[in-house]
Amino acid sequence: MQKTYQIGDKKFTLDQTKAEAVFAAKKVILGRETMTFNLLPLKYQWAYELYRTMKANHWEPEDIPMGKDIEQWNDANLLSDVERWIIMMGVGYFSAAEGIVGDNIQHVIRELVTAPELKLVLGRHAHEENIHADSLLYMISSLGINPHECEAMFEDVETIRKKNEFVTKTSHALRRDLDLTKLENKQLLAKNMFVFGQCMEGTQFYGLFGMILSLYRQNKFPGIGQMFRYTLRDESNHIELLRALLMDLVDENPEIWTPEFKEELRDQMRTAVDLEKEFISDCLPVNSLGLRAEDFLQYIDYIADRRLEGVGLPGLSDGVSNPLPWLAEMMDIKKEQNFFEGRVTEYQKSSALSAVDDDEL
Ligand code: FE
Ligand code: MN
Repeated sequence: MQKTYQIGDKKFTLDQTKAEAVFAAKKVILGRETMTFNLLPLKYQWAYELYRTMKANHWEPEDIPMGKDIEQWNDANLLSDVERWIIMMGVGYFSAAEGIVGDNIQHVIRELVTAPELKLVLGRHAHEENIHADSLLYMISSLGINPHECEAMFEDVETIRKKNEFVTKTSHALRRDLDLTKLENKQLLAKNMFVFGQCMEGTQFYGLFGMILSLYRQNKFPGIGQMFRYTLRDESNHIELLRALLMDLVDENPEIWTPEFKEELRDQMRTAVDLEKEFISDCLPVNSLGLRAEDFLQYIDYIADRRLEGVGLPGLSDGVSNPLPWLAEMMDIKKEQNFFEGRVTEYQKSSALSAVDDDEL
């Protein structure tokens, strides 16, 4: 089918069949390589919608006042040693982890995936990891924590080192020019998506989310807590992105999804859960006011099973209940204003097609 435009004495013929062939060649991997970033027609509608949601949640660390946190941090009588240690473990772990995720998204997954709308949402994901890394820098400098100490935590706290090593080892083999026609390499990529999305961002981030947001509920570290709420909301989109991407990859390459491979993924989750439980024990060596280690340990079992279910795999610990039901509500910050400054942190004001009042932001 062809359509011809006659403009003056020039004639342009557009071939509908060619356009349809381009659409059909859109794939998660091994699709048409293109320099033109042709988003339309969209094949992965979910990816574009998620991109819009993520963009609407945009936030910047310096929107959040740290005055109260600084006051609390500097008052010797206000906080217990464990409460301070949770914050140290939080900034220590996440400073490294956010960068590791961003690097893997940008240099592994986004490089290997071919459809432009998937690259679009992955680019946003990588940028959000930059925002998270920047928010940690802001917390560290506001509280006056020695950055060298923070750096030393990645190496000297064994449970942080092990969590980082667990994820980075699924990343090394996958840099540029991987031959994705080979089944074993497709499985390496699928495993990478699972480990980063479901094991790391989906499970291993939640020990500290739980602890830091428990402190926030007691009005301790309101600025840090607010940043972690925004981060938690972002992470829930990252988990969904990597879940949907893995499912589409498997859909288009069903040979990946063998019984052995599914067991391998469950084993990865088992390891992730063990590492997270050791890490929680390091964060909370003694119980603190309102924070019981056993709740956080149980929460990890609970959330790991939700992540497995999300990709159609059986859970590891049957029917364990959610000991921290309030944690899900912490993400519900749509339309909320930053109550210190009254600044609206939701940037969704107009649709992409009618965005003319940007200067109002
Ligand atoms: Fe992050
Ligand atoms: Mn993330």
